[in-house]
Amino acid sequence: MSKQGDAKKYDVVIIGAGPGGYVAAIRCAQLGLKTACVDRWLGVDGNPVLGGTCLNVGCIPSKALLESSGRYDDINHSFADHGITASGVKLDLAKMMSRKDKVVNDLTQGIAGLFKANGVMWLQGSGKLLPKQQVQVTAHDGKESVLDATHVILAPGSSSVEIGAAPLEEGVIVDSSGALTFDEVPKRLGVIGAGVIGLELGSVWRRLGSEVVLLEAQDTFLGVADEQIAKEALRQFKRQGLDIRLGARVVSCESGKKGVAVNYQDGKGDHTETVDKLIVAVGRRPNTQGLAADEVGLLLDEWGFVHVNDQCRTNQPSVYAIGDAVRGPMLAHKGSEEGMMVAEVIAGQKAEMNYDIIPSVIYTHPEIAWAGVTEQALRAAGTEYNVGSFPFAASGRARAAGDSSGMVKVIADANTDRVLGVHIIGAHCSELIAQAVIAMEMGASSEDLAMTVFAHPTLSESVHEAALAVDGRAIHVPNKKKR
Ligand code: FAD
Ligand code: NAD
Repeated sequence: MSKQGDAKKYDVVIIGAGPGGYVAAIRCAQLGLKTACVDRWLGVDGNPVLGGTCLNVGCIPSKALLESSGRYDDINHSFADHGITASGVKLDLAKMMSRKDKVVNDLTQGIAGLFKANGVMWLQGSGKLLPKQQVQVTAHDGKESVLDATHVILAPGSSSVEIGAAPLEEGVIVDSSGALTFDEVPKRLGVIGAGVIGLELGSVWRRLGSEVVLLEAQDTFLGVADEQIAKEALRQFKRQGLDIRLGARVVSCESGKKGVAVNYQDGKGDHTETVDKLIVAVGRRPNTQGLAADEVGLLLDEWGFVHVNDQCRTNQPSVYAIGDAVRGPMLAHKGSEEGMMVAEVIAGQKAEMNYDIIPSVIYTHPEIAWAGVTEQALRAAGTEYNVGSFPFAASGRARAAGDSSGMVKVIADANTDRVLGVHIIGAHCSELIAQAVIAMEMGASSEDLAMTVFAHPTLSESVHEAALAVDGRAIHVPNKKKR
């Protein structure tokens, strides 16, 4: 290891170059801070790449496959309704996968370009926090060096949780990364966990032809979403053929010539389901093991998340932590916003982040998106509220598209009319939710949304109608409340 005198001096050293760390690095550099970012990720070709989970094995490759598989599904199932007959449709899975890899490669190269353009030093290898804001870097060839930093940002991200009942087996029992690289469509696919990853990747493979069984331990489906939206989602997914079994606790798996026998228990007893491949998607855990030397005294919580305050400060002076490795939802945009906030705090600016309005999206079909609070949370808190909802079945644009399942639901405070939550299930709602986020961020009332002019015919009009419905004034559906 290099002696302290060899240390290279930076204003900020960041450990991790996922959407938390790379955004923090670029913002620090924009603010004139001398910045280095250490990352240990190796791409499929064994070369170092930036972008972390999100770009390499998360948001981007999963959305590329959702997009491609969605088109395949459309051509097979919805084109006929539009009077288009397609024959001889074939799946070229290898090409679909190489397109996905190219999308990932282009974007990760883009980040390398942004680092260069902004003057961020990219250090390839593993970083470890030492006392007094020093960072030990172990390069991929094993060479060690020590950096001196005025501030350190920890952005190590997270990894898939593994369970003893289903130990991973290359190409057969896989985590989400393995499920993005199957070289053939499994005839029968099992998924443990009907959460976000289970639903998105289960959808990809169902669309490409797999029979998909999801085994979910909880009795409740998508407990994080609004109850009414989750109920509608379950109905839609089941109709598509996703076999979702709730209250199913996997106890063991046996893998053999005939596939994987998954043994599980539910309220009715013991069962075995045999599948060709099995995806384990039961959550993610923070990458904080070995992140800091013991002498640093970095405070972690009982699950291994770095303990931070609202400004992402850790218990150590000038050491911050962001992204999946700290409390809050494990979402790329949440980590990126924290990265910007911390960079600005370090630069001496006043910066804060609104944790109450972070949008969540599940990129299935229909998509599910929400921001703010759910009805069940408001009921539990005893807050009085009004609800307005509008079905896409009554939207001219959704009807014209032939894709009119789902609804928009606006929840407003009964006393102040301030919008407290917006919940949507339907096509393109990953884009629609942004209007709700902006409205809520500006402290809008449902009346503000109701008084806003939306273009016709658009899906956005459904947000307008749901806001009108809060006060019993929706035009294109009968109102529950009359005005
Ligand atoms: P990461 O992206 O995990 O990056 C951390 C980086 O730090 C990695 O490169 C890691 O190698 C590196 N690192 C860790 N420890 C060290 C160390 N000691 N030294 C050097 N480097 C280190 N979120 C969304 O918002 N939208 C989505 O659509 C979405 N889809 C997803 C799909 C899948 C299949 C998965 C798995 C996740 C998805 N997520 C999505 C979640 C999203 O990927 C994460 O929330 C996000 O990547 C977290 O960003 P991060 O910067 O905290 O960490
Ligand atoms: P998740 O928490 O969304 O879902 C995991 C599911 O597995 C839960 O429903 C849980 O009850 C179930 N489960 C846990 N242990 C189980 C067991 N032993 N047997 C059966 N079921 C079990 O986690 P995930 O789907 O792994 O995703 C991880 C994180 O990645 C999430 O926090 C999510 O925010 C993020 N992510 C986001 C997106 C997106 O924004 N579209 C996409 C993918 C992942």
